Amino acid sequence: MELIDGKKVAEEMRADIARQVAKCIDEDGTAPHLAAILVGDDPPSQTYVRNKEKACQEVGFISSVYKYPSSFAESELLKVVDFINKDNDIHGLIVQLPLPGHIHAEKIIRAIDPAKDVDGFHPVNVGNMVQGLPSYLPATPFGILRLLEYYSIETDGKHCVVLGRSNIVGTPVSILLSRKSYPGNCTVTLCHSKTRDLASICRQADILIAAIGQPHFVKADMVREGAVVIDVGIHRIPDASKTSGYQLTGDVDFPEVSKKAGYITPVPGGVGPMTIVALLSNTLKAFKKEIYP
Ligand code: NDP
Repeated sequence: MELIDGKKVAEEMRADIARQVAKCIDEDGTAPHLAAILVGDDPPSQTYVRNKEKACQEVGFISSVYKYPSSFAESELLKVVDFINKDNDIHGLIVQLPLPGHIHAEKIIRAIDPAKDVDGFHPVNVGNMVQGLPSYLPATPFGILRLLEYYSIETDGKHCVVLGRSNIVGTPVSILLSRKSYPGNCTVTLCHSKTRDLASICRQADILIAAIGQPHFVKADMVREGAVVIDVGIHRIPDASKTSGYQLTGDVDFPEVSKKAGYITPVPGGVGPMTIVALLSNTLKAFKKEIYP
């Protein structure tokens, strides 16, 4: 079994981004600027935004966070998005999800200028991705593709089983891996909560991607010997022996599944670090106008 070290791959990608940013600053004194909007006081969202800010600083990006209380009106939020869209000094904009219940996330995402939508959630970017046209790829699927590529994992003709059909992970990764490219050319089966006989479908997978949000859902008897197992799930399990009071775990029963898998991503240190670096990579593309010249 080979461990897929997302931390190491992400570090290398971050170092490369930092080099490119330093060059931009040297040449014309400008750097990519990522803005994040955070509405409400959801603790995981606060942590994610803090981590994104930190990651921006580490590579030399400018970052700004627009914070609003959970009572913030949808109409006001649309004005903020419009303001950022028009600010030529801001290259990328992300709206941290989930938003409070009275705000329609889809309406807010549709209001973002597709050229600044570095999360790749705007329907224009999703449509371009589906058609194989230049677009910002959603961060987690982008990170998964880079991991497969880094480890030269063969994907042509492989059966890839994706567990979970969310718009941010399962659906886009299933589309990307079925496309005529590398990584891609897979035969993809997309599973969800209504899928029948899920375990037997999983056992047919050459590449198994778990993104269902259920801790330790994928057991060893669901995995074929030698399969590539990508664990997207992140869960905080209370653990009094840890100073933090919890341990992080994924959707896969790592201790058992790792004995059978050919390659496997750990949690933490697998897909998670790649997600943030993918966002940085999209922001750099926005700054360089690579997707929308
Ligand atoms: P969602 O909760 O949006 O979607 C979960 C999907 O899993 C749904 O399609 C659901 O089916 C399916 N599902 C849930 N239970 C089952 C089951 N028992 N059997 C089959 N299918 C099931 O999840 P996300 O995609 O947003 O996230 C998935 C996990 O990945 C979470 O743990 C999340 O924290 C993590 N995550 C990690 C990231 C990272 O950077 N590492 C980034 C994003 C997410 P249905 O559609 O029928 O309801």
